[in-house]
Amino acid sequence: MTQQRYDVVIAGAGMVGATLAVALGSAGLRVAIVDRMTAEAMADQSFDGRTSAIAFGSQRAMVQLGLWPLVADDACPIKTIRVSDGPSPLFLQFDPRDLQRDPRQPAEPFGYIVENRFLRRAMHQRLLAMPNVARLLPDSIVETQSDSGSAIVHLTSGQTLHASLLVVAEGRQSSLREKLGIGLHRFDYRQTAIVCSVRHELPHGNAAQERFLPAGPFAMLPMTDDAEGHHRSSIVWTEQQAVAPLMLKLDDEAFGVEINRRFGDYLGKVTPVGGRWAFPLALQLAENYTAPRAVLVGDAAHGIHPIAGQGLNLGLRDAAALAEILVDAARLGLDIGAADILSSYARWRRFDILTMATVTDGLNRLFASDAPPIRLLRDAGLGLVNRTTPLKRVFMRHAMGALGDLPRLIRGQAL
Ligand SMILES: Cc1cc2nc3c(=O)[nH]c(=O)nc-3n(C[C@H](O)[C@H](O)[C@H](O)COP(=O)(O)OP(=O)(O)OC[C@H]3O[C@@H](n4cnc5c(N)ncnc54)[C@H](O)[C@@H]3O)c2cc1C
Repeated sequence: MTQQRYDVVIAGAGMVGATLAVALGSAGLRVAIVDRMTAEAMADQSFDGRTSAIAFGSQRAMVQLGLWPLVADDACPIKTIRVSDGPSPLFLQFDPRDLQRDPRQPAEPFGYIVENRFLRRAMHQRLLAMPNVARLLPDSIVETQSDSGSAIVHLTSGQTLHASLLVVAEGRQSSLREKLGIGLHRFDYRQTAIVCSVRHELPHGNAAQERFLPAGPFAMLPMTDDAEGHHRSSIVWTEQQAVAPLMLKLDDEAFGVEINRRFGDYLGKVTPVGGRWAFPLALQLAENYTAPRAVLVGDAAHGIHPIAGQGLNLGLRDAAALAEILVDAARLGLDIGAADILSSYARWRRFDILTMATVTDGLNRLFASDAPPIRLLRDAGLGLVNRTTPLKRVFMRHAMGALGDLPRLIRGQAL
């Protein structure tokens, strides 16, 4: 049995925990990151077929952290977002040129679509090169306690770690959250997100498309062409919990027909490729983001509906805000696990988290209703927002992660 001392122990090396480790490690803090999976398993194609929409602000942080060059070749820029309401001819189109002072200048994309496995691979590649970051994989935390100066963490492997702070980045099912006595508000959407990739005949033109259907939103997200030059998109198809298993069982031909039925044929013939994944959807909000010498980040603190592709971006803003607070405190020689430092993190993050949870939950409810008066109102709303450029600008800045009190990394500045 060994005992080690660190500044920060991070439980969970998913995309939020690993990004935080890169940020703290690059600022010189001594970090241990623990996960029950190996980095190879997390980056395996069969593990997670999802892509993530990386908002403009998150991409700027990834540039600062040296992560972006490792994924840039596999990142597909989003140049337009088009939202439509089922079969209604009304739609809402977002164009980043509407944010430019001079529309003749090239516009920044809203963000990029990147496969999760490439994001995870890049994060672990960066961590491997940091001598002050210990990657303890596979391992897990069996017990934790705190005293006035340390969080004390006992691992399955028999090691005991001492740190000024324990960061919980274990995702939605976090067991440490419960062990720390932090409660959870949870609402089950009774929806399942079906995820897969498709090849299609016609190019997507870098447009992300979302169509709202009664069972939930259906999104077609642009990917880079594959090695043979086939055009590809990633699908996030929200379906009723009871119907999703039937769809998942269909053969490729019938599955492709169901996709076309929901989304039309504007990309020509659509052929599903590779695996299919299913994610039950629920809104989850932790009652607290902190406990003595412990703090929650990412999905361990908040799990939101994927309707707007914002869950990871929200978690990356947690990581950027926490890294900034901890690095500033360490530079001043302060105790980075002190209660007042952790409260300032919780205060900073609360507004962004609650806003994003409310907006995504509200959109899902609004568009899931098929009642005629609600359909009429939301179509009128879509038409109105489409014509009102200042309102569109607010939505666009929000989706780009460029609104509010942003951490330095998200603004594209060094820690
Ligand atoms: C269908 C779908 C599509 C999405 N699309 C987008 C999108 O386009 N853009 C976006 O921003 N967000 C998106 N999201 C949300 C996003 O995927 C999550 O917010 C994000 O993955 C959360 O990352 P995390 O690191 O907090 O948690 P996780 O990815 O869940 O990572 C948690 C890690 O902790 C480890 N762990 C857990 N428990 C233990 C334990 N007891 N011991 C040791 N290790 C443990 C796990 O092995 C894992 O590696 C989507 C979500 C879904 C469901």
